Amino acid sequence: MTLSTELDCQACGACCSYSSEWPRFSTESEEDLDLLPVHFVAADQFGMRCDGERCSALSGTVGSDVSCMVYDIRPDVCRACLPGDDACLMARTAHGLM
Ligand code: SF4
Ligand code: SF4
Repeated sequence: MTLSTELDCQACGACCSYSSEWPRFSTESEEDLDLLPVHFVAADQFGMRCDGERCSALSGTVGSDVSCMVYDIRPDVCRACLPGDDACLMARTAHGLM
């Protein structure tokens, strides 16, 4: 088991490029969602716009050097994924980052 203290999200980004179904909106308020730049929001308005499986708000190279361009206002599902948890490890495994 990889310890969360060993994982650096800014050198990863696997969960942000795992599935276009993943960065969906859930418990955010309308006010919070209104803060997101429209070009990062999916056409159906139910989540982040993705290019393939990768969130459009992710910049950089997965597994090397990444950042979230909407970090301070990112959706709740993004806040819920924590380094070392099951979702994290599943995404990292899919990207060969274990
Ligand atoms: S997969 Fe895990 S380590 Fe990678 S960015 Fe997401 S939470 Fe961080
Ligand atoms: S909004 Fe940010 S944290 Fe959430 S999936 Fe996109 S790049 Fe990752």
